[in-house]
Amino acid sequence: MKIDFDKYADGLVPAVIQDASSGKVLMLGFMNSEAVQQTKDTGKVTFFSRSKQRLWTKGEESGNFLLLQQMEVDCDNDTLLIKAQPVGPVCHTGADTCWNESNPSLHPGDHSFLAQLEQIIQQRRQVSPEESYVARLFQKGLNKIAQKVGEEAVEVVIEAKDNNDDLFKNESADLLFHYLLLLNAKGFSLSDIIAVLQERHEKK
Ligand code: AMP
Ligand code: ZN
Ligand code: ZN
Ligand code: ZN
Repeated sequence: MKIDFDKYADGLVPAVIQDASSGKVLMLGFMNSEAVQQTKDTGKVTFFSRSKQRLWTKGEESGNFLLLQQMEVDCDNDTLLIKAQPVGPVCHTGADTCWNESNPSLHPGDHSFLAQLEQIIQQRRQVSPEESYVARLFQKGLNKIAQKVGEEAVEVVIEAKDNNDDLFKNESADLLFHYLLLLNAKGFSLSDIIAVLQERHEKK
C-alpha cells in the first residue's frame, strides 16, 4: 500500500475510523508511517497524537482499543480508511462515536440500523430483568426466545393473508426483532447469516 506521507504537514495523513460491522464513522485521527506500521504489527489502531506529540494507541488508558480489520488508502493515496472493531466507547466523552449519537442519521432503508439494534440488544440483555423486556426473555432462556420467533412467524403468516398493511409490517418487525434476539442467544449476529447468503450467491 502506497501512502503519500509528504502531502500534508509533519508526515501525517488523516485516518477515518469506521466500525467494521455497522459502517458507522467512529473517529478521525492522524497517522505517520510509524503509526501505520505499529497498527499493522499490533492489530490495534495507533495514531500520531498531535497534542501528545507521540504515538498514541487508541485505548491505551481506557482499554477501549480499536481492533484493526482492514486498512485502505483513498484514490490519491493521502487519506486512510480503517475498518475496526471497537472494544468499547470510542469517544473520550464515553459516546460510541465522536459524532453525536443522540442525533443519529436514520433514514428508512438504512440496514446498518439492524447492526445498531444488535448492539442495543447485547447491552439490554445484561441489565436487570425488571427494567428490560430483552433481559426478561434472556432470563427465560433460549427455548423461550426460539418459541417467540415461531409465534411471531405465525402472526406474520396470518397478517399476510389479511390486507392490513400496518398489521403486516408490525408483525414483520416483531419477527425480525425476535430473530435478532435468537441469533444473539445462539452467539451469532446477522452478519454471520448474511455471509451464508453471500456464499450461496457466489456458488451460483
Ligand atoms: P484512550 O486512548 O481511550 O485510553 O484515551 C486516552 C486519552 O486520549 C483520553 O484521555 C483523551 O484525551 C484522548 N482520547 C481518547 N479517545 C479520543 C478520541 N476519540 N478523540 C480524541 N481524543 C481521544
Ligand atoms: Zn485523497
Ligand atoms: Zn470524541
Ligand atoms: Zn407479534
